[in-house]
Amino acid sequence: MKLYKIKKSNIDNKGLYATKNIKSGKLVINYKGKLITKKETDTNPKFDNDKAIYLFNLNSRYDLDGDFKYNDARLINHSCNPNCEVEGKGLKLWITAIKDIKKGEELSYDYGFGYDEDYKQFVCKCGAKNCVGYIVREGSRWRIKKARSASIRK
Ligand SMILES: [Zn+2]
Repeated sequence: MKLYKIKKSNIDNKGLYATKNIKSGKLVINYKGKLITKKETDTNPKFDNDKAIYLFNLNSRYDLDGDFKYNDARLINHSCNPNCEVEGKGLKLWITAIKDIKKGEELSYDYGFGYDEDYKQFVCKCGAKNCVGYIVREGSRWRIKKARSASIRK
C-alpha cells in the first residue's frame, strides 16, 4: 500500500496526503523524472516562464525534469514548515519524512528556491505560522523579512 494518496490540496491545486502514520526518517516516495542536460534546460521553451517547479538541479551538467504524469511526487506542495525533504544520491531523488506525519496530513517540502528579483512570482499559501508568503528556501527567507521591514520604514 502506498503511503500517500492524491487529493485536492489546501495549499494549492492537488497534493499528496498521508494514508497512514509515517515515522520521521521514512522514505515516502521516489521522485522520478528524466535526465536532461543544462543545455536543454536553457534552450527548451518548456522551461521558460515559470521557474520550472519540477526541475531539479542535480549537478553542473544535468537537471532532472520531473514534469511527468507517472511522477506523483511532483504534486507535493512547498511549505515554509515542511514535514518532508528531498534527498538524493547520484541521479536518484526521493522524499523522506523529517517529522512524524499523521494519517491525513498533507506532505510538503521546501522547494529550495533562491531569493532573486522575481521571488514574488511564487506566492506561498502553505498557511504555516512562519509562512513568509513566498516560495523561498529557508536559508534565504530572512531577506524577505528584511525587505518588508525596510518598506514599512519608508
Ligand atoms: Zn509558506
